Amino acid sequence: MDGQPIYQFIRDSLPGQAQLDEPMKFHTTWRIGGPADVLVEPDSMEGLRLTMDLVQKYNLPLTVIGNGSNILVCDRGIRGVVLKIGDGFSKVTVENNKITAGAGVKLVRLVNAALSKGIGGFEFLAGIPGTVGGAVVMNAGANGAAFCDILEYVFLMDPSGKTIRRSSEELGFDYRMSNLQGASLIVLEAYCLGVSREKKDIQQKIDEMLEKRKNTQPTSSATAGSVFKNPPGTSAGFLIDQAGGKGLRVGDAMVSAVHSNFIVNLGKATAREVLDLIDQVKELVIQRFGTELTLEVKVLGED
Ligand SMILES: Cc1cc2nc3c(=O)[nH]c(=O)nc-3n(C[C@H](O)[C@H](O)[C@H](O)COP(=O)(O)OP(=O)(O)OC[C@H]3O[C@@H](n4cnc5c(N)ncnc54)[C@H](O)[C@@H]3O)c2cc1C
Repeated sequence: MDGQPIYQFIRDSLPGQAQLDEPMKFHTTWRIGGPADVLVEPDSMEGLRLTMDLVQKYNLPLTVIGNGSNILVCDRGIRGVVLKIGDGFSKVTVENNKITAGAGVKLVRLVNAALSKGIGGFEFLAGIPGTVGGAVVMNAGANGAAFCDILEYVFLMDPSGKTIRRSSEELGFDYRMSNLQGASLIVLEAYCLGVSREKKDIQQKIDEMLEKRKNTQPTSSATAGSVFKNPPGTSAGFLIDQAGGKGLRVGDAMVSAVHSNFIVNLGKATAREVLDLIDQVKELVIQRFGTELTLEVKVLGED
């Protein structure tokens, strides 16, 4: 089987969990992206195992996503199976200062779970609109802290469907980097460790984080957060600002007037417009500072 029939077979094998030709713009915070041949959002481990069996059996390309808050999906979409790890993997358990969270758990829920039990160390995640899986892979962070600081170990699924355990030290963490990026491994569950802290102190820190974001980021616009990584010793936003990039626009994609490292979708931006704007911004910064910015967002699919 190849092409459409296999995707129809996948949809029929996973009732209510798979959609054909699903526009990826509905699954990204940028609200951009062409269709996935089939998007599967398993409602359980059984659904995931069946998906992986079919992917293996028919040798299909596989792309894993979480909440789509750090990805740019190209306009022709994604061939093969897009696996969205969401509500089917959203169990949270708390024991002492240890929190076990499924990969589909939204970070806001993780932050609130820690707060409700008086566990500190998770506050930096407040306002990051991703899932636990995406945060592990991206080593998401803010204000000097990152996911690697709270992660003890993860459970992963390899392409054959086998579950493996990896400690934090084995994940090659660095700034917005882990060795899971580009690897064919699915994050299933994360074991995190915090420290006992007064709830009012945790709440205060969360409030500060959210307030700071509200004042410095276009939080109510369609974006994917920081587009570029910060070069050592400086910030990409500052360089873009100084190079005259603020407000630059290609079609409906615009460098945010609030934060120059954010690109805003003003309504109907295409991935091509975002990519052209990215090229223009990179060129401005090279011309002005000789610094080559590297992408933090992951570009997926066919241009
Ligand atoms: C307004 C806004 C603010 C942001 N602020 C921050 C910030 O302060 N700090 C920060 O670090 N990021 C920030 N981000 C970016 C983004 O939220 C984080 O990178 C987040 O961790 C991505 O999680 P996600 O679930 O959306 O992953 P996605 O964007 O869906 O995926 C990101 C990467 O992880 C992979 N992936 C996702 N889930 C899994 C899984 N279960 N198994 C294997 N691979 C997986 C994908 O293949 C992809 O390569 C911001 C984004 C927005 C829109």
